[in-house]
Amino acid sequence: MRIILLGAPGSGKGTLAKKISRDFDIPQISTGDLFRAIVKENSPLAEKVKSIMASGGLVPDEITVELVKERISRPDCKKGFILDGFPRTIAQAEALEKISQIDSVILVELANEIIIDRLSSRRTCPNCGEIYSVQDNPENVCKKCSTPLIQRDDDKPETIKHRLEVYENSTSPLINFYSDRLFKVSSAGSPDQTYMPVKTFLEKLEAKGE
Ligand code: ADP
Ligand code: ZN
Repeated sequence: MRIILLGAPGSGKGTLAKKISRDFDIPQISTGDLFRAIVKENSPLAEKVKSIMASGGLVPDEITVELVKERISRPDCKKGFILDGFPRTIAQAEALEKISQIDSVILVELANEIIIDRLSSRRTCPNCGEIYSVQDNPENVCKKCSTPLIQRDDDKPETIKHRLEVYENSTSPLINFYSDRLFKVSSAGSPDQTYMPVKTFLEKLEAKGE
């Protein structure tokens, strides 16, 4: 089962991807996480990616496509995968068509005002990548690995606004691109409420043998 999660930054793609990955036993491929790992290296590419991410812009398509191409060619992707944060431009989607066939695209919908609230209160574990909100975790320490949480540079108000514009301009045209295999879900409720219809949908898709 090869799936794409489409949605604005902060719409809840990552949370949903983790649940799908667990239940359907396919890897979550988050380009954001892959880039955050690259940034920790000491290389010219790391410097470049770091400044792009901090500004809320997009890493160039060539770099991003190569990264995903390599990742989905690995053995753990044989049974399928969930792309979380890729493609983000029409050019990336066109490149993906040449390397893999996507069964379904899940569009995670959420109003911008809620997105801004959620992203501003989001805190991330710099060690294991777990995500929390200030409200649920006032201690500000990771419950899995005890590392103090941080606010991602790109979760600061100025950058959030820019990321939403980039989504509107560059990524939202993909909704049309994938109109033949789109499944829409609202993430206004809890993570489990969001997941329920998606789970039912994917079980049917799986039963069809995709
Ligand atoms: P969010 O979905 O919360 O914005 P991500 O973790 O998916 O965050 O991505 C963080 C940043 O990584 C993006 O703002 C962008 O700079 C870069 N990035 C991630 N995926 C892509 C992609 N497919 N193409 C270009 N840049 C990307
Ligand atoms: Zn942690």
